[in-house]
Amino acid sequence: MGYGVTFITGDGTGPELSEAVQKVLDATGVEFDWDFQTAGVDVYEEEGNPLPDRVLDSVRERGLALKAPITTPVGSGFRSINVALRKELDLYACLRPCKAYEGVRTRFPETDIVIVRENHEDLYAGIEFEYGTEETEKLRKFVADTEGTQMREDIGVTIKAISVHGTERIVREGFKYAQAYGRHKVTLAHKANIMKFSDGLFLEVGRRVAEEEFPNIEFEDRIIDNLCNQLVSRPEEYDVIVLPNLYGDIVSDLGAGLIGGLGMAPGANIGDDYAVFEAVHGSAPKYKGQNKVNPLGLLLSGFMLLHHIEETEAANRLESAIAEIIREGESVTYDLKPSRDDPSAVGTSEMADAIIQKMGKVAA
Ligand code: NAD
Repeated sequence: MGYGVTFITGDGTGPELSEAVQKVLDATGVEFDWDFQTAGVDVYEEEGNPLPDRVLDSVRERGLALKAPITTPVGSGFRSINVALRKELDLYACLRPCKAYEGVRTRFPETDIVIVRENHEDLYAGIEFEYGTEETEKLRKFVADTEGTQMREDIGVTIKAISVHGTERIVREGFKYAQAYGRHKVTLAHKANIMKFSDGLFLEVGRRVAEEEFPNIEFEDRIIDNLCNQLVSRPEEYDVIVLPNLYGDIVSDLGAGLIGGLGMAPGANIGDDYAVFEAVHGSAPKYKGQNKVNPLGLLLSGFMLLHHIEETEAANRLESAIAEIIREGESVTYDLKPSRDDPSAVGTSEMADAIIQKMGKVAA
């Protein structure tokens, strides 16, 4: 029996990416017992729910999932499935390694950072007060009575809440990742100078966890704007970076930009009981069915899965093959070519085949 893993095949370019990635992971020699599950727009039309219970049950049973991207239609009735999955399974940590492989188009070839983003709290918690409603009026009054601030009448409000519990566990996750993967430094990002009771708490709790629980790993903090400035000038000075939800979201895309684009960026959503691995990018619907997009975001997420289940040898062999294919620059998709309309670009499936072939050679 192989490893039981739920494979959520996604929509848009998700199914073609899934097919390509499944064949590469199967070719690593590690035995997987895939449970393929569909979710997303088409499923919503057929089953009335974009994230049916069968999908969650499958992940709960197996503990592990690989997930292709899923579209969140703008203005539709349903909220992001991606956010729902993270909430339902309490996947509180989002890990996004950003490593520049030799051969990608980047001004920062030394980049090798890992973004650790808190997944549940902050401005993303969905506590919102709509402009013009009775609730917002009550909130205005409450703020005026308790805090003494008169807010304008024409406001919409989103609440930013950061907890001790949420901060402790995300900072711990950052340090545990550093320990497990031989990383040397953890940087915590914040805007504590302005938001003293949310980001300030994040910083204070982070400092305590660092000092009390991980005294052997270097720890520092950076104000978020300063961090962004430094990441686009000398990213090689950073290692593991722990951030609250919103900054983590933004810095993840910045990180993808540092390493050659969204097509290159993998990710993992981790909780105490479950782990779901997925690319940073979305379903890229304009390329659906064209066998065109880069499979590496999802494949490198599979590489993270291999490490997670401690199939280290297979993970390393896969990474070496991927690195070699990128370095050669021949069997790569359009986004990894010097120009985007380079006629020598190969398709999703062909790039996967080239990686499989290369793995055979790396293994020999
Ligand atoms: P997107 O990431 O799908 O695509 C933006 C652009 O990035 C594409 O047009 C393409 O140029 C490039 N790109 C993305 N993936 C690529 C790949 N594998 N190879 C090469 N180039 C690639 O972002 P979007 O268009 O804003 O979002 C489309 C849909 O995906 C939306 O409904 C959004 O909500 C959803 N989404 C899902 C996830 C997820 O499933 N985790 C994440 C982000 C967005």
